[in-house]
Amino acid sequence: MSSRYSSDAASGAAPDLFQNESAALDKARAMHAASGADAAEYRSSLGELIDHFERLMRETRRLIGRSDRAEREMQALAQQLAHRASHDALTGVLNRSAVIEQAAKALRTESAAMIVLDIDEFKRINDDFGHPTGDAVILGVVDCLRRIVGDRGFIGRVGGEEFTVLLPRHDPASAALLAERMREAISDTLVVASVDRRITASFGVSNNDAGTGFDIAYGLADAALYRAKRGGRNRVEIAER
Ligand code: GH3
Ligand code: MG
Ligand code: MG
Repeated sequence: MSSRYSSDAASGAAPDLFQNESAALDKARAMHAASGADAAEYRSSLGELIDHFERLMRETRRLIGRSDRAEREMQALAQQLAHRASHDALTGVLNRSAVIEQAAKALRTESAAMIVLDIDEFKRINDDFGHPTGDAVILGVVDCLRRIVGDRGFIGRVGGEEFTVLLPRHDPASAALLAERMREAISDTLVVASVDRRITASFGVSNNDAGTGFDIAYGLADAALYRAKRGGRNRVEIAER
């Protein structure tokens, strides 16, 4: 709804927003200064002043409400933007730069297991069932990871169908167990409409002391993943230090 308090961009001229109020005020001042006015004139002037004052209050309330709404919308938009900048649009997990940043930060102060996994024979899934089905497989894999990782760590999408899971303060045995549970969840429970074959992924795990750089932790896990691929896929390999 437009009001005389909204800016008059079309006219170009700066309107006097309070023209009516100024006139009523001038009249009231004149009435106040005049000594000989009678009661009816005073009443009429006061009545006019009350009308304008009430209208000003209504408009002010409306403008405050509008500015509060605009501020809330701005905050929500800023949050959305920050989320989009750090999360993968398809799966909602951390995107590549965010997972690198967060993993590097965690590794600076605490030990952490890093798991790198890559969906097996994914090109063939795309080729045989189409790209949208490939996307559905990626989403299904992320569901499996989320179910198992929970709040034990965080998940990031580092490449097309390659993910990283960082598990802070996990000893090698529990990290290996979790990676094994992720592998099992994908190969034993993941069903995606129209995909008539078992979906699997291969895993590499590195166990890192506090102070390990991201590249070292990732390189070790990636080398283990490579061994898992060469060893026949659908398996977990642990990096030797
Ligand atoms: P391997 O078992 O050795 O991993 O074989 P692979 O076929 O999975 O090989 P690779 O990991 O190199 O395959 C990556 C493929 O993932 C290639 C690319 O077309 C596909 N891809 C990457 N991003 C996306 C995506 O967002 N959606 C879909 N549907 N496919 C993607
Ligand atoms: Mg890959
Ligand atoms: Mg692959």
